[in-house]
Amino acid sequence: MPVYSHSRLSTFEQCPLKYKYEYVDRLDSQLGETVEAFMGTRVHETLEKLYKDVKHTKSPTLEELLAFYSEQWEKNWVPSIRIIKEYEDFHYRALGEKCITNYYKRYHPFDQDKTIETEARVEIDLSDGIKLQGFIDRIAEREDGNYEIHDYKTGGWLPEQEKLDKDRQLALYEVGVRRKYADVEKVGLVWHYLAFDKTVRSERTGEQLGELKKKTVILINEIEEAGKKNDFPARPSALCDWCDYRNVCPAKKHEYRVEGLPLNEFLNEPGVSLVNKYAELDEAKKKIEDSMEKLREAILAHAEREGETALIGSDHRLKIWSAEKLKFSGMSDDERARLDALLKASGRFSDYARVDWYALEKALENGELDSVIAGELRRLAKPERVTRLYLSRLAESVGGLK
Ligand code: SF4
Repeated sequence: MPVYSHSRLSTFEQCPLKYKYEYVDRLDSQLGETVEAFMGTRVHETLEKLYKDVKHTKSPTLEELLAFYSEQWEKNWVPSIRIIKEYEDFHYRALGEKCITNYYKRYHPFDQDKTIETEARVEIDLSDGIKLQGFIDRIAEREDGNYEIHDYKTGGWLPEQEKLDKDRQLALYEVGVRRKYADVEKVGLVWHYLAFDKTVRSERTGEQLGELKKKTVILINEIEEAGKKNDFPARPSALCDWCDYRNVCPAKKHEYRVEGLPLNEFLNEPGVSLVNKYAELDEAKKKIEDSMEKLREAILAHAEREGETALIGSDHRLKIWSAEKLKFSGMSDDERARLDALLKASGRFSDYARVDWYALEKALENGELDSVIAGELRRLAKPERVTRLYLSRLAESVGGLK
């Protein structure tokens, strides 16, 4: 079994197919690093340098740190770095400077605690050979002997306390820190949301850590099962724009291929043309259905008014059939149970009951039935590929078709 990590687990939760590309197929991304990741790395290495200097009794000035950040930015920047949002590289560079400045001003002269390690690797033993590893931005020991795990965040999102009280990453790291150092009693979990100049803290009880380990083992087993069945479905979301595999993912590669095309090439691209035609017909179909419904109402009103049950057109006759019927669909659960009981009491239940094919297919898919019966049922069923098309509107129209 591989050594897992928090980011490996999060990748599976975000999108199993992305997980497969990254951790099973080990595909090299042909897309560049995102600017957010690039900026995050530069800020992390600057804060790492800060604490290395402090450890060696050197207290760098803010200007020195910003100069280091700038130097690293220029040394590592390559044109393939991807900017996904509407900003420019210099906006991200300035945001990184702001993160460092906020941190520096808040914690200078950095004597709140003693740094034990930066970029510290910890190993977490979950159970039965299931292992996880993580890298902690900074482990510190406070004056009272308690440990702290510090994590720097450079993103533009500040989560609520409630969410961090349930956060998996630092809590798992706590398990690793407790394993690594013999003198650990209490551990504080500390997140630095640098762009917001906010520090958020949390703690875990032994019971919570035990629960977390169990949940993590369940998730890892789920991932292992997916691996055995090679079942890694794509799960598209807003995060796809940042995915390293958009160019190969079936759910996104067409969009990736056409997004930079000049307008006329875009409109003539076969896939784009087909979708535009489909959308056009779908729209026309909705209009026709709407008109049919209105016409139907007009016909019924006319027939009622004139007392007629058949109307004649140039080439067609239209009969109007109407009768009072008993309707059983749309019953509440209680009513349905009463109906079943009455039919069973009459001894005719099997004459009227029908198999719920959808529920049966789901039960087979989820392995809910006895394996022998499931095997027999599978032999009775005919495999058939089901394909559906789901049309949805893009947030922004491309090519002015709308
Ligand atoms: S582009 Fe989206 S759906 Fe495709 S692999 Fe990446 S995250 Fe998953």
